Amino acid sequence: MKYIIVTGGVMSGLGKGITAASIGRILKNKGFNITAIKIDPYINIDAGTMSPYQHGEVFVLKDGGEVDLDLGNYERFLDIELTREHNITTGQVYQTVIDKERRGDYLGKTVQIIPHVTNEIKERIRKVSKKSGAEICIIEVGGTVGDIESMPFLESVRQMHSEEKEEDIIFVHVTLVPLDTQGEQKTKPTQHSVKELRSLGLQPDAIVARCKEPVLLDTKSKIALFCDVPARAVVSAHDSSDIYYVPTLMEKEGLSDYLMQKLKIKEKEVSYVWDTLMKKMASIDREIRIAVVGKYAHLGDSYISINEALKHAGIECGCRVKADWLDSEEFEKNPSDIDMLRKYNGILVPGGFGVRGTEGKILAIKFARENNIPYLGLCLGMQLAVIEFARNVLGITDANSSELATTKHPVIDLLPEQGKVKNMGGTMRLGNCEAELVEGSLASKLYGSTTLMERHRHRYEVNPKYIKQIEAKGMKFTGKNEHRMEIAEIPGHKFFFSSQFHPEFKSRPGKPSPPFLAFVRAAMQ
Ligand code: GLN
Repeated sequence: MKYIIVTGGVMSGLGKGITAASIGRILKNKGFNITAIKIDPYINIDAGTMSPYQHGEVFVLKDGGEVDLDLGNYERFLDIELTREHNITTGQVYQTVIDKERRGDYLGKTVQIIPHVTNEIKERIRKVSKKSGAEICIIEVGGTVGDIESMPFLESVRQMHSEEKEEDIIFVHVTLVPLDTQGEQKTKPTQHSVKELRSLGLQPDAIVARCKEPVLLDTKSKIALFCDVPARAVVSAHDSSDIYYVPTLMEKEGLSDYLMQKLKIKEKEVSYVWDTLMKKMASIDREIRIAVVGKYAHLGDSYISINEALKHAGIECGCRVKADWLDSEEFEKNPSDIDMLRKYNGILVPGGFGVRGTEGKILAIKFARENNIPYLGLCLGMQLAVIEFARNVLGITDANSSELATTKHPVIDLLPEQGKVKNMGGTMRLGNCEAELVEGSLASKLYGSTTLMERHRHRYEVNPKYIKQIEAKGMKFTGKNEHRMEIAEIPGHKFFFSSQFHPEFKSRPGKPSPPFLAFVRAAMQ
């Protein structure tokens, strides 16, 4: 197993995750089988209980793992499916160590960070990478070098460095090269951050320098000199118009050759799939506009996978998808504003929790339904579509979800087996679940099959008591998992498709998610 450890310095938010994913991609393009691990130094066990406000999107894996959004980047860049053990957090590590201590596994010894916690970390890294069957494992250490929280993890990879063969573990450090007021590229922050890394016993093999503009040869030489790496190991990662161009940029900088040399491996078979896709993306000259009506509208990070899925579908159709994130609460304050949705080619309502902003979303869905504007509803976006239909077509004016209100008509409800919600994260339906599709439905056409497998993250369901009534009026449940409704569509509408699952998590560049693809196609017409 070859390990590439990616650390970050200077400050957070440099795009370490994209760098790690891109490194994986350029090596995948050389024929290697790649996997990736994200280390999150926080004490949470997983990202499931974290607010998208604070932490960005909670990404959902096939096994139901609720993980850091970087795992979404890995899956998309590498076209792989990961499992929850690929996101290691401090919380998980300590929980295991404490459980072992209580069981007496440490035979009366004093349990310490070194070696007990570090051993647990190393064991996890090795086990997960081996189990994946990959040849190269990219390990991204979250946080910035120098943070107290990341110390045990950096110490663990330091130990791994002395335990593994020299050519089996290498270090890539991501830093920032800022411009001063004269526009000069400054290397001091990089120097300091590498110094910090060295004080922990780690020497980078390559330095990825994030910069607004291409890093100059001079700047590279200076970094090389001060940080003790060859100049070709300093890579310019300047801002690019799209994250998917980053691997191409790194390849041009010669990073894959350098890494292969360090790891003493030779390229197997070169793939141009990514290049072709980038060319296709670069040649796009059409644009459509989609209104995404949500709650965290001002925070793009909260819905990364939806943005990406729209983009994947757009590349396939040869059009740029410009998504405007609209705050649904604004429609609640000024209902007449809803008319502004007319200028959009499509309307999307994403998943969400809690009552805030839901009435505004319902207004947007009504507008899409009545004006024959393509609609894509995801999870809560399906539940609200059912509520809207029940209220405005069936005339059940107080139809609602029991998550959102106390009502005589919970058309969306907890199923009896769901029980009462006791502990956060314990009661959701998570990850891959199958759905049977009704033959001849839009759903079965999109998926080209009579079944599908998609990822879920929800508690509430369409209430079986109302299904007959709703279907009689023209909304059809065309995807089912036993008594659970997975898809609601309206035949005859230009495009009205909503799902209880989250198709955005399985969308990949070059392999767009079927509902997104059809939605973008409909919006283009
Ligand atoms: N809040 C809804 C539920 O729990 C929808 C969840 C979601 O959109 N992810 O069922």
